[in-house]
Amino acid sequence: MTAKILDGKRVAQEIRNEVKERAKPLIARGVVPGLAAVLVGDDPASQLYVRSKTKACEEAGLFSQGVLLPGSTSREELRSKLDELNERNDIDAVLLQLPLPDPLDSEEFLDRILPEKDVDGFHPVNVGKLVQNRPAPRPCTPAGVMELLRREGIELKGKRAVVVGRSDIVGKPMAMLLLHEHATVTVCHSRTKDLASVTREAEILVAAIGRPAILRRDFIRPGAVVIDVGMNRAETEEQVRDYFGEDPGRLEVFRKNGSTLVGDVHPNDAMEVASAFTPVPGGVGPLTIAMLLSNTLDLARARRGR
Ligand code: NDP
Repeated sequence: MTAKILDGKRVAQEIRNEVKERAKPLIARGVVPGLAAVLVGDDPASQLYVRSKTKACEEAGLFSQGVLLPGSTSREELRSKLDELNERNDIDAVLLQLPLPDPLDSEEFLDRILPEKDVDGFHPVNVGKLVQNRPAPRPCTPAGVMELLRREGIELKGKRAVVVGRSDIVGKPMAMLLLHEHATVTVCHSRTKDLASVTREAEILVAAIGRPAILRRDFIRPGAVVIDVGMNRAETEEQVRDYFGEDPGRLEVFRKNGSTLVGDVHPNDAMEVASAFTPVPGGVGPLTIAMLLSNTLDLARARRGR
């Protein structure tokens, strides 16, 4: 079997175009949905994420502001910056880029963002609403996965779904969203015994682990739909060949950059065993940003009318 590639990039572009259209009536009334992306410190990967998020907002016609604070920012300074953004009428959505540098505690500051401006859906009030399946912003990555599954016509009702990973950002909300769509959901983690025997039961397998290509052939049920959330780096040419075979494009990227992106699922194995698979990159990653825009618009509509 050769798996169908689930093209997250294409679906993400669809969602971004829809956001642009849906925002037009608001913008025509002079209400431009606004996102503030707060970054503390100068981690290059985080800087890149924040830049790509603000750029995507602008492309969709939304207002966005990158709030770049030095790594030496104190608790008091970060608190007052978030309070200021909470109060600003032109800001509908506040995103705090994680991780925060030590000693800042992400929980304290995620809790400080008003639930009605919590674009990532990480505030405990919004987590509670997710559990109860009430309207609230949903965490962008799992929400993006759900959009992909829906738009690809993948049936979830009654299906056996296994989520590997139980983080607050991906694994747990992913499991909740699948449950709300009537899948029978199992959540695995680092202490799960005989992981392969559990994942092999999955008709829908979602990997959110953060370990390169850890889920190999014998972890995948033949014909499963495999969603790979992981974003890791292959750092030796031997790994690149193992994961991607003699793919000249991949080898070229690796030779140019000294690494290449790989998910949590062994890509060649998934392509041979699964019925559908999200590539890394180009699968789940672009959907996360698309859902950020969609959540920003929904928050603006909720706060400032449709
Ligand atoms: P975390 O590190 O917060 O969570 C990882 C989870 O995987 C934990 O629950 C951990 O278990 C579990 N785990 C770790 N090792 C194993 C193992 N050997 N077997 C089974 N389970 C294991 O990561 P995140 O949830 O934040 O992210 C997961 C991955 O998704 C990363 O690669 C990240 O880069 C990527 N990501 C991608 C996004 C995108 O837009 N595509 C967005 C967000 C994340 P335990 O709880 O027991 O420690």
